[in-house]
Amino acid sequence: MANNALASGSAVKRSGKPRHVPQRTCVGCHSTSAKRGFVRVVRGADGRVSVDPTGKANGRGAYLCATQACWDVALKRGRIGQSLHVTLTEEDRLSLAAYAARLANDDEEAAGTPDGR
Ligand SMILES: [Zn+2]
Repeated sequence: MANNALASGSAVKRSGKPRHVPQRTCVGCHSTSAKRGFVRVVRGADGRVSVDPTGKANGRGAYLCATQACWDVALKRGRIGQSLHVTLTEEDRLSLAAYAARLANDDEEAAGTPDGR
């Protein structure tokens, strides 16, 4: 009803223990969902960051929607590294970008070509 909280961080009551499926938050668009359609990125023990298709790899993980738009934002703004408390190597960044390039692009039909390079 009167829901005009525009940019407030928490609309959730802290009532104690989380009871059900943990909510994942996309580091690109910050939408949450219970893992549905999210891709996990994991930081390995060696500090390398890679896509974790199984969702079970050991290490700190970050989640992203399986859409190019979110990966684009996350990679460009360094949010994956932020979330994982690590600096992505150029190699890791490129391999994540390559993964993102194969994802569905359902956000914009006419994808702009990133300039640069
Ligand atoms: Zn997202």
